[in-house]
Amino acid sequence: MKDKEASLLALKASMLKDQDLPLRANATNLVFGVGDPNSKILFIGEGPGYWEDQKGEPFVGNAGKLLDSLLQLIKLDRKGVYITNVVHHRPPDNRDPFPEEIAAYASYLDRIIEVINPEIIVTLGRFSMGKFLQGVKITAVHGKSYGINWKGKEITVVPMFHPAAGLRNSEVLKATKEDFLKLPEIISKIQEEPKGEQMKFI
Ligand code: URA
Repeated sequence: MKDKEASLLALKASMLKDQDLPLRANATNLVFGVGDPNSKILFIGEGPGYWEDQKGEPFVGNAGKLLDSLLQLIKLDRKGVYITNVVHHRPPDNRDPFPEEIAAYASYLDRIIEVINPEIIVTLGRFSMGKFLQGVKITAVHGKSYGINWKGKEITVVPMFHPAAGLRNSEVLKATKEDFLKLPEIISKIQEEPKGEQMKFI
């Protein structure tokens, strides 16, 4: 399935050329996405922080280390899933992205979703959650699965706290571990009706 990789590379090339992306001026690198383009599960975070900006890869700082250990907890490897963000350049001083910034990157994120064509989207934090589920509070919905119609396709969305919130608050960390532990069952339900390759656990 080389075509997904090729499509993502072409998309990344167009983002690299896009001078209208609002956060690019202060950023060191475009932080596009990482992982297996054929994964059935897509993780969407908020936006790059310092280390992601330096390295051009999502979730490689402290929040990323926690994400890796949460994936390990359920025997998933970050190389076997796909990870991206709502905005693909670092907001100055790690501030929250503004709505107009999220909107400016949205067509690229939509295209990433279209290419990956996931069965499950795990949203990390409220900005990513807000793309799929409106009018809900993360404290009320984290760890639940929602079947949504995304541009004509049924997708399961699982909202989770952002890993950085787990680093700041041990209760949030505990809840996030419990939420991750629910993922294997959600994945296996989807695999009961396989539409292609099965998810690989380590
Ligand atoms: N936080 C995010 O939301 N995304 C990253 O890539 C890193 C930290």
